[in-house]
Amino acid sequence: MTITELKRSFLAELIKEYPCEEANSFFGLLTEAYLGMSRFQVALQREKEISETDLAKFKSAKQRLLDQEPIQHILGKTEFFGLHFQVSKKVLVPRPETEELVQWILDDLESENKKIQLLDIGAGSGCIAISLAKNLPEAEIFAMDISAQALETAMLNAENNKVVINFAEKDVLKLEELGQDFNVIVSNPPYVRELEKADMQPNVLRYEPGTALYVKDDDPLVFYRKIAGLAQKALVPGGKLYFEINQYLGPETEKLLQEYGFKTELRKDIYGNFRMLKGVKET
Ligand code: GLN
Repeated sequence: MTITELKRSFLAELIKEYPCEEANSFFGLLTEAYLGMSRFQVALQREKEISETDLAKFKSAKQRLLDQEPIQHILGKTEFFGLHFQVSKKVLVPRPETEELVQWILDDLESENKKIQLLDIGAGSGCIAISLAKNLPEAEIFAMDISAQALETAMLNAENNKVVINFAEKDVLKLEELGQDFNVIVSNPPYVRELEKADMQPNVLRYEPGTALYVKDDDPLVFYRKIAGLAQKALVPGGKLYFEINQYLGPETEKLLQEYGFKTELRKDIYGNFRMLKGVKET
């Protein structure tokens, strides 16, 4: 079978489940991963014969996509903030909105002393901590997560991206203190309410780790309250707390931070949803 024939049969089935553009982009990512060919090379070598082994890989990937498995799981990796990250069922696939949170922190630190201590709570794949470490070589970066399996992935990602991070396995809800001072604390904790599951995509519902995503309907800000309390004690005067937040709970989450004595700023993401919150501890 030639690559053109393969593409035709791959797309014919996938467009039943995905928009044409997305199906096309899946094919591009897979040819890159399995054949080492860019889109451009594929266009130039339309008649190239695909081996049985490679055909089997495409067939398996197609079936997994038809079962709604995230492409990042099939490839075993994704890109975030221009870096490569391994992903699996054990961690949340990094989202583009989260890149905006990382950028906000870097922008704020632009004119400041970067020899700081920074903590990421609920690090998952490590995408936030690692992107920050890569861009703040003088900073000392700490990251914690409740899941040992997530930490394994995060450690591997730190190693692959050649940064040093101090990882710790901890359940933040059980902590009474953070144990040291920090200049910056960042967290993208679970914030999706059970009631929101009805609107979620099957790829997220079926394949992404519930521990990283869901909170109870009757206490959706549980992580924010706990982290705000810990951060109020551990941050240095003028220290900053950054959160990714539930788009439907922007004003409530902001109010909560104000109750803990933070000066706040709420921001929307590229999609126009409330997604980020900053709290500054008074000096
Ligand atoms: N933004 C993620 C989603 O929509 C949720 C991330 C989180 O709960 N921290 O799936």
